[in-house]
Amino acid sequence: MPKLEIREERCKSCGLCIEFCPKGCLEITDRFNPSGYNPVGWMNTEECTGCAICARMCPDVVIEVFK
Ligand code: SF4
Ligand code: SF4
Repeated sequence: MPKLEIREERCKSCGLCIEFCPKGCLEITDRFNPSGYNPVGWMNTEECTGCAICARMCPDVVIEVFK
């Protein structure tokens, strides 16, 4: 099963990764990071294919995918 590492402190809540995840595995959380943004969280983890589209889309290099 793939694993996502999300560097929450870098996330700016732009939503690009959410929009492009083909499996709906990413959502904005209700937590706050030190910059005041709600970072993305990995949900529905069993649906994740490890395609890494989320990691490629993120302009802030927040997400890393391990297969
Ligand atoms: S690796 Fe692919 S399926 Fe998994 S969260 Fe990222 S975009 Fe979605
Ligand atoms: S694309 Fe990157 S910065 Fe934007 S919400 Fe997703 S993880 Fe956060």
